[in-house]
Amino acid sequence: MTTLPQTVLLLDELAATYRVELAEGDAERWHRQLGRFHIDDVTAALDALQASPAQFMPTVGAFTDEVRQHVRRNGPTEPEPCAICDGTRWREGQSVTDGSIVYETVRPCEFCSPELLEAARAKVAETRKRSRGVNRDTLLPYRLGEKLAEAREGLRDITEPKSAAGGGA
Ligand SMILES: [Zn+2]
Repeated sequence: MTTLPQTVLLLDELAATYRVELAEGDAERWHRQLGRFHIDDVTAALDALQASPAQFMPTVGAFTDEVRQHVRRNGPTEPEPCAICDGTRWREGQSVTDGSIVYETVRPCEFCSPELLEAARAKVAETRKRSRGVNRDTLLPYRLGEKLAEAREGLRDITEPKSAAGGGA
């Protein structure tokens, strides 16, 4: 994995070499391509490029090709397992207690699964937003009980004679 700050450093280096001014969003654009490669493979491509510099700064596509060629020649550098999650992409979350039961929870690793963590956070925020201002009386279990009572009432009307339902006059 190559991190965004590493991509920024690489771009700065390239821009300085070729005396090119970077534009807004360049780093993100490059990172989308380079992020999936190991930093050592990206650095090797940079070294190769600087050993025999071209006249113009390579495009992100050309640079990515250079990285791919390096990987093809040498095999991909195996990533070190993440120190936070040991490469599992998940880490321990807070344990939740429900009565006497303790639930161990996990959450996505912020280094290995940032998208997943972001999605989980958005989901929690959305749930909180939705549950704000909800009248407890309108929650499903209450209405379910009401509907059940109605149904029973209806059933009794059908199965029991009118005189019995009226409690006897
Ligand atoms: Zn991790």
